[in-house]
Amino acid sequence: MTKNVSIKFCKKCLYSENHPLGITFNDEGICSGCLVHDEKNKLDWSFRWQKLLKLVKRYKSKKNNYDAIVPVSGAQDSYFIMYIVKKLGLKPLVVHYNKYFNTDVGIYNLSNLRIKFNTDIIFQNVNPRCVKKLTKKTFTEFGNIYWPILAGNSVFPVQISIKYKIPLIIWGAHQGLEQVGMYSHKNEVEMTRRYRKNHDLFGIDEYNIFNTYDDLNQEDLSSYFYPSDSELKHIGTRGIYLGNYLRWDPKAQHEKMIKLFNYKTTRFNRTIDCYDYVDCFNYLNLHDYLKFLKHGYSKITDHLTREIRHKRIDKISALKIVSRYEKKSPLYVGLFSEWMGIDSKGLKFITDKFKNNNLIYHNKSFQSLNDIAMLENKKKLKRKQIKKISFFNNSSIKKKNYITFGKGY
Ligand SMILES: [Zn+2]
Repeated sequence: MTKNVSIKFCKKCLYSENHPLGITFNDEGICSGCLVHDEKNKLDWSFRWQKLLKLVKRYKSKKNNYDAIVPVSGAQDSYFIMYIVKKLGLKPLVVHYNKYFNTDVGIYNLSNLRIKFNTDIIFQNVNPRCVKKLTKKTFTEFGNIYWPILAGNSVFPVQISIKYKIPLIIWGAHQGLEQVGMYSHKNEVEMTRRYRKNHDLFGIDEYNIFNTYDDLNQEDLSSYFYPSDSELKHIGTRGIYLGNYLRWDPKAQHEKMIKLFNYKTTRFNRTIDCYDYVDCFNYLNLHDYLKFLKHGYSKITDHLTREIRHKRIDKISALKIVSRYEKKSPLYVGLFSEWMGIDSKGLKFITDKFKNNNLIYHNKSFQSLNDIAMLENKKKLKRKQIKKISFFNNSSIKKKNYITFGKGY
């Protein structure tokens, strides 16, 4: 028995009106994400590249300082961003927030990046006791084990901008634009404190946490405070997104980086994309599973929506592939329990607390947004062969423990 839930889905991609970033639909039932994606096929990208060249030229340091800050990890778009930054003729200061859930593949990618792009780097290793305390808090209160990482990733580059007096920060794509078409490419949207709070951090920033919980003090959160408006104004800090100036295509970009710089990839249990988040034990495992429980869909829906929009897979094949992956158990949960100091029963108790019972519930069946979409496309699913989509896999996670560096453990 499945529960009947009426939910509006995009006619083209896999997203529904339940997307946590917010989504709108036009009269034909096409979502804002698909509509903004279509701009990629219409915009004059050589004109936009010239605009970018002109923009960054103003930031070339005359005082032998760095020209820009580039936040990187051992995964995602880090290599491609560095590749473009070098093409732009900039001298970057690379910054990295240590997330502690590091895989050996990610550590390899990070050190290989420093060698291949011949760059200076600053690591932020927040006191591990604070990180654990904060992770425990955000996990038990919001079902989010990634809050400190998202907060750290988005604030550390800004703090470095102030400290080293380097105004320009260069990011890859803007998630709100790419996924749900929150902005047009032509808006040339830039990094803001507000977007960070409302979307990167799901509406809860360090001030909310500090003001709400008596058991967390200023010291626990000191590494996560966003610089003040007057500091930002004084330095002229701004964060631009390359996706506004280049036709953004993560799959094609990663494949180029594998060929040119030997970027390492790995297979995952819950998605077919081997390129994203290879540096982390938890993002595509426990973190993704929590996303599934809370929102009724997981990262594979994001990955395949992206691939539908780039016309590398059709919607019906994508629905079938999602159904094979989204309910698989997350791996490495034991590593997280051990790191966090909670037993497996305690961990299950906390994760179950965040199950969205409107969408997902245990009866005779287990219903997700994809299940509901499958029901709506029942007839088409019957007659359709699954189209395959391939991702290169050139490595595997060999060491089954969090790789530490700096003062991490
Ligand atoms: Zn769509």
